[in-house]
Amino acid sequence: MVTQEQVLAALRQVMDPDLHRDIVTLGFVKDLKIQQGEVSLAIVLTTPACPVKDRLKEQAEQVVSALPGVERVQVEMKSDVRPTSPPQGLNLIPGVRNIVPVGSGKGGVGKSTVSANLAVALAQTGARVGLMDADVYGPSIPIILGIKDSPQPGGRGIFPVEAYGVKVISSGFFMKPGQAVIWRGPMLAKLIDQFLSQVEWGELDYMIVDLPPGTGDVQLTLCQRIPLTGAVIVSTPQDVALQVAEKALDMFRQLRCPTLGLIENMSYYICPHCGQRENIFDTGGAERAAARWNAPLLGKIPLATGIREASDGGRPVLLDGPDSPGAAAFLEIAKNLAAQISIQNMKEVAEPAVRITF
Ligand code: ADP
Repeated sequence: MVTQEQVLAALRQVMDPDLHRDIVTLGFVKDLKIQQGEVSLAIVLTTPACPVKDRLKEQAEQVVSALPGVERVQVEMKSDVRPTSPPQGLNLIPGVRNIVPVGSGKGGVGKSTVSANLAVALAQTGARVGLMDADVYGPSIPIILGIKDSPQPGGRGIFPVEAYGVKVISSGFFMKPGQAVIWRGPMLAKLIDQFLSQVEWGELDYMIVDLPPGTGDVQLTLCQRIPLTGAVIVSTPQDVALQVAEKALDMFRQLRCPTLGLIENMSYYICPHCGQRENIFDTGGAERAAARWNAPLLGKIPLATGIREASDGGRPVLLDGPDSPGAAAFLEIAKNLAAQISIQNMKEVAEPAVRITF
């Protein structure tokens, strides 16, 4: 009869391509049971959005089935998202495992569209997701996600509003339509503090934070107050946008917030009539920038009327299904982002990050 040691030895051949280690060493194999010729086990990944989930399951089934004496193999795929390990002096929001700010250099590059669709995409994979709209000067998340309800008081202060499986809080909930925000730094810092400490977020695997464009007070407050897993930078492909995006990236690096990757939005346009691809804002810029910044390119999103229409209509394009080029791009980027978060958290277990405190 096959033994536990033989099964584990076989499973050591299954490598996680992102973490470059085998699934036994990584501690992913749980609940291993052997009854006569039947082997059952669970593989507990670090994210439900793992881009290679199906491949790992198939490989595990193959290597165990190949052992002499094994008649049937049952592999259950589960996930348990790891939290960022907080550096000394900073505490995570209780229950919130990863906080990921989405920034840009210039405004209008699609940062809010990307934040909203990434949050919904991660929620669709089964993750528990929150979205903090900290773009105080132009809070557009309630419009993009079609939110009509207001947050209700309770718990630590207020409950976020739920939309498409995502818990949302937005500065837009607390302003009258058309009202301009003319605030000095301390007021901005106070709002961010309240979003962090007085919102009843509950248990979250990922919190996406939609930042204002640029390198201002909101970014600084966020980086100083809570441990961030890493930042995502959104840019369009042309050099002028990438040059400004580089400043946002430099700010995060100076504040000791790792970079999880770059997303190229409005990357190319496919004519709905003739199918020809046009690189309206140039091409290749994101690859060059990612190489220069030593940061992964998480993916490219096409310029598509459907994305704009979906956002204006309050129904994220992601819900159009995998045949929609916009939805497919967002889903792939969400999986790549989740993989980068896992890599970052596994790295931190071995080598805790240093953080400057002000
Ligand atoms: P930012 O948050 O960077 O200011 P937004 O997300 O508000 O940018 O996007 C600006 C405008 O561009 C919005 O009208 C949005 O619907 C549109 N938009 C964003 N990304 C795309 C895209 N990939 N294709 C088409 N329109 C887009």
